[in-house]
Amino acid sequence: MSESLLARHRAVLPSWLSLYYEEPIEIVSGSGRHVTDADGNTYLDFFAGILTNAIGYDIAEISDAVRRQVDTGVLHTSTLYLIRQQVELAERIAELSGLSDPRVFFTNSGTEANETALMLATQHRRSNQVLALRNSYHGRAFGTVGVTGNRGWSATSLSPVKVSYVHGGYRYRSPFRDLSDADYIAACADDLREIIETTTSGDVACMIVEPIQGVGGFATPPDGLFGAFAEVLGDYGIPLISDEVQTGWGRTGEHFWGIQAHDVTPAAMTFAKGLGNGLAIGGLVAEAELMDDIDANSISTFGGNPVSTAGATAALDYLLDRDLQANAAKLGGQLLQDLRDRAENSALIGDVRGKGLMIGVELVEADGTPAPAAATRVMELAKAHGLLIGKGGLHGNVLRLAPPMTLTEHEAGQALQVLADSLAQAEQEHH
Ligand code: PMP
Repeated sequence: MSESLLARHRAVLPSWLSLYYEEPIEIVSGSGRHVTDADGNTYLDFFAGILTNAIGYDIAEISDAVRRQVDTGVLHTSTLYLIRQQVELAERIAELSGLSDPRVFFTNSGTEANETALMLATQHRRSNQVLALRNSYHGRAFGTVGVTGNRGWSATSLSPVKVSYVHGGYRYRSPFRDLSDADYIAACADDLREIIETTTSGDVACMIVEPIQGVGGFATPPDGLFGAFAEVLGDYGIPLISDEVQTGWGRTGEHFWGIQAHDVTPAAMTFAKGLGNGLAIGGLVAEAELMDDIDANSISTFGGNPVSTAGATAALDYLLDRDLQANAAKLGGQLLQDLRDRAENSALIGDVRGKGLMIGVELVEADGTPAPAAATRVMELAKAHGLLIGKGGLHGNVLRLAPPMTLTEHEAGQALQVLADSLAQAEQEHH
């Protein structure tokens, strides 16, 4: 990337708008699973623009749908008028949700979707007490930052909601780590009940969870955990909200929504990121009882605009028609297995986890403590060999793999090779 753009970025944008890599890249074009930077380097994108380009780059069907809307001369007018594309997309999502009597509301981002969900739940239950998981990330507006349990992402501690955090998200460094899955679920459910009984009045607005914690390092709870949580919550009439911003649209392979691995139907699900394959769109689907319990006019100017909803409908068609969920299950399963096999002989890899095309590799020191410097090094080495990956987790020591869902077997193999070489070199340098 040109020096001057980096200097201009630093001079005019906030200091916390941080960039990946010692030499940050400017992506100028994309095709399939590849992106090209301003210097002409091409990379296989195993972070898919942090899950925005969930399907891939330069998909004609999606671009054409957007272009057709742009060609009408109307990018947007107002949500005070009927918008056909918005109604159509809402119908599709309502049907896919599996919720009883669902209503859909569109926003421009995941943060706004979660803000809306929190507002609805607090109003519906007349309470500002909320339950969330430790190590969570739900956004960085005033309400959502309050339910974000990952300190590195909590920009302010002043929050309008009163939050109690429970175990159940990040198992690897939790006191319950070595329990069997069944005992782990029981311990977390007990913890939830105790937290409700001892830190809240019992009149809690909602519990919000990520089925797999994204920013938190693809921390993956055992199947059934949130079903057990729902039983506890049911005793108090507390609605469960599933934040599907990273886990929705089939990315986890086995289910269309991440929460479905837990045999529970939540009161609401929020979504964003991958839905528009890069377009700014988010939203939530909720039971009408929850969605319609506010007395207000429309609460978003741009949410559900015709450009975003037309593009998102085309993206949804594309991923359903090609059964990309099955592709995520197949290739994700292979990647996970291969990485787990490699972990056996690697002192650097402490844990490999995830589902479908959402895989986390936690790097550790010889004594098991987090190894964030090694994660940064692996990312740099992978980039030098044409592979973009991400990192995350409370300690910044978890490599995150989340390629577009159109990934091919050949590309999966290429990525594994680069990753294996990068991990081996980093391990050699590190230990
Ligand atoms: N929820 C989750 C689970 C997320 O991963 C994110 C983004 N990292 C958000 C909410 C916030 O979404 P956005 O950045 O679109 O506001």
